[in-house]
Amino acid sequence: MTGNPLIDMHEVTKTYDTGPPVLAGLTLRVEAGEALAVLGPSGSGKSTLLNLIAGLDRPSAGSVTVDGVRVDELTETASAKYRRSRVGMVFQFFNLLDDLTVLDNVLLPAQLAGMPSTEAAARAAELLAHLGIDRHTRAHPGRLSGGERQRVAVARALMNRPRLLLADEPTGALDNVSGEDVRDLLRRLNADGQTIVLVTHDLALAESCATRTIELVDGRIARDVRAVAR
Ligand code: ADP
Ligand code: MG
Repeated sequence: MTGNPLIDMHEVTKTYDTGPPVLAGLTLRVEAGEALAVLGPSGSGKSTLLNLIAGLDRPSAGSVTVDGVRVDELTETASAKYRRSRVGMVFQFFNLLDDLTVLDNVLLPAQLAGMPSTEAAARAAELLAHLGIDRHTRAHPGRLSGGERQRVAVARALMNRPRLLLADEPTGALDNVSGEDVRDLLRRLNADGQTIVLVTHDLALAESCATRTIELVDGRIARDVRAVAR
């Protein structure tokens, strides 16, 4: 592999006001094209790790560089812009806006980024079709199944063509069938070149999607395994 990693976390420590460090001198490099699954028991710092990469939180020590940007040093405005342009995020409970249609949810990141509306409409239509949810374009998310809602959330996350897709327990609220849908989708996206970091308890998700799996224990990487083939 050549060049700089897409994610470069160097000796990152994160301590909250009380308690021991959540992350303790963690160093992690992720190359473009990887699908990294982050495993670990509840409370082991998985969401904290993702939030640091997304610039939603700051390390107590160490550095976080993503796509050449020192994420830990951005102002709030620059951090919001970084997330809009380079990062897509997917959460366990979808975080869709139920007052908006599926289409308007997917268009939102493009509008915030100032993408011309004809281009945004074309991109949204392409994504909704690609993710198999174009029949629901005019529906409100509350009418959709969990798996469909998560696909809408993925479409929204991909709207601005982020270099990095972050997912925090994306199958955590789904039944088996919907979970399988989302696993397939993430696998397909990674096969098409999308770099993904996903946090999960779902071993099936890690096994089916990840090219590499790390396990967090006591604020450090206890295990780091690359899949030979999928
Ligand atoms: P995981 O996602 O692996 O379940 P988290 O990253 O959410 O773990 O949390 C790791 C630890 O950090 C937990 O002990 C949690 O209580 C603590 N924690 C997370 N966020 C905060 C916060 N904002 N303030 C104080 N403690 C926090
Ligand atoms: Mg979590």
